[in-house]
Parts: sequence; C-alpha cells; structure tokens
Amino acid sequence: MAPVEFTVTGGEGSPLDFAAAFVPGKSLVVLTDPGGWALVSKGLVPGHAASTTVATRVRALKFAVLDLRHFSSASQLPPITDVPGDVVALHDTRAWDTTSLVQALRGLGRPVLLFTAVHTWVSGVDSASVLMGWSAPHVVLAVPAGSGEGRVEDVVWQFRELERRRLVRYTALPEPVVVEDRAVTVVVALPGATEGIAGTLRPGAEYEVWVHVGAHAAALPGDLELRAVLGMSGREVQAESFVLPAEGSSPWVSFPVTTPYASVPWAGELVIYRGAVPVHVQHVVLPVGAGESQSRLRFRLSRTFADLAPLSSRVASVLVLGERALVATGGVPSWISLDGAGALPPVSGLDPWYGKDFPSYCADLAAAAVRGAALHGMLFPDGAVVRRGGVITVVGQTKVSWAGVYDLPFADGPYRVCASMARFGPFGAGGPVPSRCPDPDHSGNVLCPFGFWGLSSVLEHPPGPLAWRVAPGARPVEVALSVDPALDRTLTQRHVAELMSFLPPESISSAYVSPSGLARALEDERADVVHLVYDEGVLEAVDIDAWPHRPLVVTTSPSADLVDAFVNQAGAAGVICPEVPVDQGMAGWVSGMLLARLAEGMPAGEALRRARWEMLGRGNVLGLAYTLHAGADLRLR
Ligand SMILES: [Zn+2]
Repeated sequence: MAPVEFTVTGGEGSPLDFAAAFVPGKSLVVLTDPGGWALVSKGLVPGHAASTTVATRVRALKFAVLDLRHFSSASQLPPITDVPGDVVALHDTRAWDTTSLVQALRGLGRPVLLFTAVHTWVSGVDSASVLMGWSAPHVVLAVPAGSGEGRVEDVVWQFRELERRRLVRYTALPEPVVVEDRAVTVVVALPGATEGIAGTLRPGAEYEVWVHVGAHAAALPGDLELRAVLGMSGREVQAESFVLPAEGSSPWVSFPVTTPYASVPWAGELVIYRGAVPVHVQHVVLPVGAGESQSRLRFRLSRTFADLAPLSSRVASVLVLGERALVATGGVPSWISLDGAGALPPVSGLDPWYGKDFPSYCADLAAAAVRGAALHGMLFPDGAVVRRGGVITVVGQTKVSWAGVYDLPFADGPYRVCASMARFGPFGAGGPVPSRCPDPDHSGNVLCPFGFWGLSSVLEHPPGPLAWRVAPGARPVEVALSVDPALDRTLTQRHVAELMSFLPPESISSAYVSPSGLARALEDERADVVHLVYDEGVLEAVDIDAWPHRPLVVTTSPSADLVDAFVNQAGAAGVICPEVPVDQGMAGWVSGMLLARLAEGMPAGEALRRARWEMLGRGNVLGLAYTLHAGADLRLR
C-alpha cells in the first residue's frame, strides 16, 4: 500500500471529543492518545472484551473494548461482535498484523477506534477514516485524500509545518445536542370515545383519563416496562402497566374516573414508575364545572427515559408531596400522611473523637429507633417490611430523616440490645459488616442497627435527572475545598486535618472564600468534588451556569435548600450533606471517609452506608442524619 495524502486541521478539545463528533460518519478513527485509552480501558480485564461508556463534550460514547496486545494472534481473540457498544475501541499490537481484523469490524457496521503508537504505519485508511494526534494545545485531525496507509507521526509533522507557515485551519466541535424532554401527555375523554375532549367537565360524571409517554429521538436500549399511576383527590390510586417501546411512543393508558359532585378544579398526581421508582411526576388539574385543565411537571429522574433500565434494582420508594407521600414497593402505590414525621432526635455530648461510650450510644440509637419505628408504622400501616440490602429511593422535598426508619417493632421503654449493637458499636469487635444481622433473635423490644434503613439498605434522594458519573478527567480525583474565613480557625484546621488524613494531599486544593464570593469562585472550578466548609444558613443558592463537568458537592452543614440550585441549575451530579448541624471536626472526618471510598470507585450510596457503620463503630449515630441528594449509583470514576 502506498502512503496517502491528508487534509490536516487542528481542533480544541480531546481526541475522544472529536472521535464522538466523527463517528458514525467516519468508520475508522486512528489515534495516538494514551490518556483516552486509559479512560476507555479502565477496568478492562486482560484477555477479555468489555463494554464501557465515556462522557465526552459532544455526547456519551459507548464502547466495546479489546486490547489486542493481550493476544498473540487474531485466532485467539474472544468474540467482540456481541459486546454492546456504538463503537469498537481496539488497542493495536505490534505482534501481528491487525489490518484485516479492523476491516472486518468496519464491514460489520460498527465504527472502529484504533489506538496505536505515533510511528506505527496503519494500512487500509481511506476517506471514511480520520487520523488523530496531539500537538499541544491542539488535537491534530487528518482526513486521507484516498486509500492507502498512514501514520500519526506524519500528520502531526504536517500540522506543525502548517503552523510554522501560519496556514493552519481549525475544525470546531459541534455544539452538544440539546436534549429535548420526552413528553408525558394527559387527555380526558368520554367513556368509549376515540378522541379526547377539551373544555370543562360535568360534575359527578364519568370520564376516562388517558395517559401517554411520547416519542423521543433517543432510542431506548430496549423495551421498557413502566407503570402509570393516577391519584386524583378523593379517589383510590389507580395503576396500569404498559411498555414503552425502544423506539416511538407508548400506547395510551386509560383510567376510568368519576368527577366530584362539586364544581371545583379537581387536582391529582400522575406518576410514571419504573419498578418501584417514580421517574416522572406531573400535577394534574381537571376543570370540573369551570376553569381550564392544567398539567405541571413536578419532578423527573430522566429527560429521555433512555437511562432508566438500571432502576429496576430499587426495592421501594417514598414520593413526598407536601404533607403526604406515595409509598411504593413495586405494586400499586399507596398514600400515607407524614403528619408528625420528623428529623432524627438531637444528639449532643460527643467526645473529642466524635464518639460516645456504649450506654450513651445505645440511648442515642434507642431514641432514633422510637421515632424510626413510628415512621415505619406510618409508611406501612399493614406491617409490610421492605427487603433489606436493596436501594430505597426518596423523592421530593422533605425534612424527615429516612435513614432513621426502623423496620422492627420498637417502643419507648425497657429494651434488649441485639448482639450486633456491641459487635459493631464502640470498642466492639467490628469487622466487615454482613448484609444481614448475624444474631438470629430479634424478639421483643429489641434494638438492632440492622433495623435502620440507612444501615441495612442504600438510600438515595435524587433531586432531578440522574447523573451516573462525575465526568472523568484522565487524572486522579481532585477535591476543591472552599472554607468560610469567618469560621473559627481552630475548627477549620481540625476539619482540614481530618480530611487530609484520608486523601493524598496533592489531590486537595483549598481556599478561603467568603460566602458572597463563592458563586464567582465556583464558576471556574473544575475539580471532581466541591467541598464547602460553611456554617448553616450562611450560604445562599449559588447562581452558576451549567458546570460542564458535573462535580459532586459535599457540604458540612445542612444544605437541603441549596440542592435544587446546585443540581438542577449549576449541573452538579449531586450533593451530600448533613440534615442537622454537626461539629466541623466531625464533618471533616465524615467527608474524608466518604471521599476516600468514592475515590476508590465505590458508588455514592454504598459509600455513605459504609460511613454510617464506621461512625457507629465510635458510638456516633449521626451517620443516619446524612443524605445523598443523588442517585445511589453515582461514581466519581
Ligand atoms: Zn440484630
């Protein structure tokens, strides 16, 4: 094969950003990009193919990944055709000629990203290919003029030559596609009709409420089983299952209703569930006698419904709507009243290690259990118990401490302690926490840490569309600490010292920022974790325009009122914060435990559950007063 000529341009972004822009228009991307390969091949087991998704500035790219260096010939390769991915990412090898493999994969209709060394000659490049290299600070992009062979080294050399002669042209990344939201439509019809009606409804008359999930440009990974739930004021909750096909809209789901006898705006909630999880909540007002029909989106977990399949692992949900909540465990959800439900009882008198002795720890946990058992009784008046060890989703604004829900009967008065209280409590034997309590006897008024939702299950409290990962950079996790200069310096130093004991010092940057200057300082912040050390009530909702990298925000004081601005406006992936004011030193200890686990790759929900157990090991029950305002599966890396 003869060397080909190229049209060479430069670009601003990463090679993977441009790869996302070029495929599927180009069926072969040859690139020298060790950082990009590190992202794509993270977690790849030698000798196996894998599937992975990488976020880019253009869109998320799903890869089927194979490192050809693990194999001594093409005949030893595992099958790659059935590994999911929009694109096949291969790392080239010098041990054998990979040309025919690449051509075969291109022929099957999936574009190939071939990661190779800068000096390697690659055969079989053509006008449907692009070669990419790097000449700081630009990505070098080269499109062959014909068919033949080429190498990245030559296109980088050509680029530098053009640069020297000031003849470089640049290729811009396309703007990220604006995701249009998938619409959920509500229509009222007369019974048996084939078309909906407009205008007011007659009091005390029979109608049908039709519900429909619209089509969307983003195809689903497969058909999605969903459930429409209609809860109109003064009526039983109705539920109907349906399937949203991979492409197109759902069929209409119909609910028979009888309007109230009074001429009033008739309000209710329409909720779409995926398994036990409410993924779309719409407030509906039907005009009975007078007025206009209204429909207002209250909450959604997804804008496209394309990322909902993993939620099938959730075992229960609580959808809080003011003083009421809709509780679901997979069947027809039911309304409960939250009147009288509240936060964790106050905890004071922690020792300098943020702990307590055994009797005081038992007393704290017993006080929490009294409240938690009452709350459990409100959630499940029929005595049902959610399977422990799963993920429980809470949606909506709430002051209730859900981690403190206690699923064993427990009343104020004399109680017995389960053996796990001592084993996992202060100065206990400790050890890995099993998925269920090792002590078989839970009869009577018994106090057991496994009775609490926050210790036996993973809790998530997502405030909006789910983020699955903080957008990765090709570097270790970075934490940016902002500290209020008005805080007591001794406490601040204690906080920082605790945090530093868990994380490599080079991963942390810190600055004193007054509350009024915080929004400005955070605007340009690109660390993975934004850690805010401020007292309760000091911060106002930050006004930040869409962070491009979706960081995780961790605060050291109650910040539930800031979550919406951080996640739904600034674009944070989530917020972790205490529900009650806590000691600054303790806050540093808790953040350190959480971030160390997140940096190891643990999902946020499990990291918080483990931190609660670790706190219990010092006799500290305040882990139950920490909330993850994000999806439980959120990862830093
Ligand atoms: Zn137990």
